[in-house]
Amino acid sequence: MASHTTFRIGGRVRYLLYPESADALIAAVTYCREKGIPCALVGNGSNLLWQDADFDGCVLFTSGMKRITVDGTCVRADAGAHLSAVCIAARDAGLGGLAFAYGIPGSVGGAVYMNAGAYDGEVGQRITAVTYYDSFEDRVVTVPGEDCAFGYRTSVFSQKKAVILSAEFSLEKDDPAVIRAAMEDYLARRREKQPLEFPSAGSAFKRYPGYFTAKLIDEAGLKGYSVGGAQVSDKHAGFIVNRGGATAADVNTLIAYVKEKIFAQNGIWIEPEIRTVGDCLL
Ligand SMILES: Cc1cc2nc3c(=O)[nH]c(=O)nc-3n(C[C@H](O)[C@H](O)[C@H](O)COP(=O)(O)OP(=O)(O)OC[C@H]3O[C@@H](n4cnc5c(N)ncnc54)[C@H](O)[C@@H]3O)c2cc1C
Repeated sequence: MASHTTFRIGGRVRYLLYPESADALIAAVTYCREKGIPCALVGNGSNLLWQDADFDGCVLFTSGMKRITVDGTCVRADAGAHLSAVCIAARDAGLGGLAFAYGIPGSVGGAVYMNAGAYDGEVGQRITAVTYYDSFEDRVVTVPGEDCAFGYRTSVFSQKKAVILSAEFSLEKDDPAVIRAAMEDYLARRREKQPLEFPSAGSAFKRYPGYFTAKLIDEAGLKGYSVGGAQVSDKHAGFIVNRGGATAADVNTLIAYVKEKIFAQNGIWIEPEIRTVGDCLL
């Protein structure tokens, strides 16, 4: 999995599958369930700390499902479409409202699951419908955005085992040149502030209400602190980066250390934003 996650961390897996349609994805999930094969669902692997140990099961990647269509002010995208590709399709169609998401390196499915967001925007604010497969009831369901319980880095899908198949975004007409400028500005801000030169899974910790987590970590003197190949970025304290050869064990030890330090300093327990294998299992 090291070559399939942005953290560049993870052991071997028995089967990797790249279904190219919702039907193929559902068939794969059903097959694994019938055969008792452990099955994990991964989008772009950009918010994921996979395990070091071998995984004797099947990892289903949605990256083969990447159709994007535009209909008036509505953009529909398959779960595996890259979020930035959706932003580009919207811009080219003269549709604004998603520029903030440009540069988030996830898939539509992962972005809906996490309610990905940046610069005061969240994808949940733009989602009007999500279609998913409920593997327990063996049915495909479409829910309106208001039933997705979008919150800070969470949605109804973070709480239940569902296979997001596609999502619908409602946008508004705008000048493509204005949208392009906004997208480029957001991307430039990312490049300036984030340690994009090293593998990571983005912000390692969630915001704690009333605090900027990265600032707390910085104030605790943890910038640059390392465990094995894992390091609290010295560019942005909210990121844990893989400086080379980091293992999941290194990252977990570092996360635990940072949490303890922040508790000792501020009396609060910060929570990881990064997902693990357990979150991917269906
Ligand atoms: C450099 C960098 C910058 C980042 N910046 C941001 C940022 O600004 N804002 C932000 O919110 N995040 C950011 N992230 C984190 C990450 O990109 C987002 O959380 C993204 O939405 C994750 O999408 P993914 O497809 O990579 O999900 P994955 O990492 O593949 O999976 C994450 C979780 O979503 C689940 N999932 C994935 N696809 C589906 C599906 N189809 N159905 C059901 N569940 C699914 C997985 O099972 C897993 O539990 C950043 C990451 C990096 C590396």
